[in-house]
Amino acid sequence: MSEHEEFLLENSFEKFRASQIFTHLYKHRFQSFSEFFLVSQELRNFLNENFIINSLFPENIQYSKDGTTKFLFRLNDGAAIESVLIPAETLDEDPKLKRLTLCVSSQVGCALNCSFCATGKLGYKRNLEPSEIVDQVLQVEKETQKKISNIVFMGMGEPLHNLENVVKAIDILSNSVSKIISRKKITISTAGIVPKIIELADIPKPVKLAISLHSTTNGVRQKIMPIAKKWNIQDLRKSIVEYYRKTNIPITYEYILFDGLNNSLDDAKRLAKFSRTVPSKVNIIPFHDISFTNPTGFAKDLKPASRDQIQKFVEQLKHLGVNVYVRTSSGEDIDAACGQLAYSIKS
Ligand code: SF4
Repeated sequence: MSEHEEFLLENSFEKFRASQIFTHLYKHRFQSFSEFFLVSQELRNFLNENFIINSLFPENIQYSKDGTTKFLFRLNDGAAIESVLIPAETLDEDPKLKRLTLCVSSQVGCALNCSFCATGKLGYKRNLEPSEIVDQVLQVEKETQKKISNIVFMGMGEPLHNLENVVKAIDILSNSVSKIISRKKITISTAGIVPKIIELADIPKPVKLAISLHSTTNGVRQKIMPIAKKWNIQDLRKSIVEYYRKTNIPITYEYILFDGLNNSLDDAKRLAKFSRTVPSKVNIIPFHDISFTNPTGFAKDLKPASRDQIQKFVEQLKHLGVNVYVRTSSGEDIDAACGQLAYSIKS
């Protein structure tokens, strides 16, 4: 029995009403309980007294010249998060695929403080509720009147630090009643929370996994991502092997290329070897400016690899047989690109 059915029974309503409520909320997307025509007046009143339908509101929408759209959502407790809508063209994908990817947030802020990321500078505020994750999708579809085809958990926060609520949100989004999106079109990206990667492998119908890798040596990785001091590259590798063994889903590695830090021929060779551990692809990502966060220490000295350096690194990887793609800088002019999400620092 689902927790929704249990809740209804505990409150003296039939459990089959849960599916009707789902239909009203996620299929019809009603904005008021008074529209819930399948349920009794008594249940409508009960819902009205105990719940609200919208958990977030679009406060600001910014449009990039490349077609990317950034949404600032205000939550009911006054906190804010950002979501980014990215059309296929800006990801260098075939426009005929008509892919529309939504990058969703899983937390308010983030505890991990990766040196290249503006969100990390906010610190951790709180986990998002499942409804706050699902509502990012519903609100963006409502605002744009477009159907989202892919969801990536690459917005604000480390999704595996909020695994329970992220999985609940995925269950709602891919539910047979809501049918908002197929689980095959959902990717969770992690900085490498090893035990949670293993846990994620065990959920029914697992989703795609992306690893924020950025270096294959412990020394450099620990400088870029403090979490790598807790879970080293060897542990991470083992968890990836386990994830693939259990799910049979190829892994995506995200690799931000920095000038003089992780872009040598040796780096390419090590990355090629690492990526062969299980079937995978590598996304090379340009480093995006986060000087608006006034970075200090190691973060202050990070420099983006040049276009030529990126091209050379990619050619080396291709030569080594790696399935590699270069991600373009979607929405950089509106600070919506990878690593740039940080509403409060800018406002
Ligand atoms: S990159 Fe992801 S995990 Fe790292 S600080 Fe930013 S939001 Fe957190």
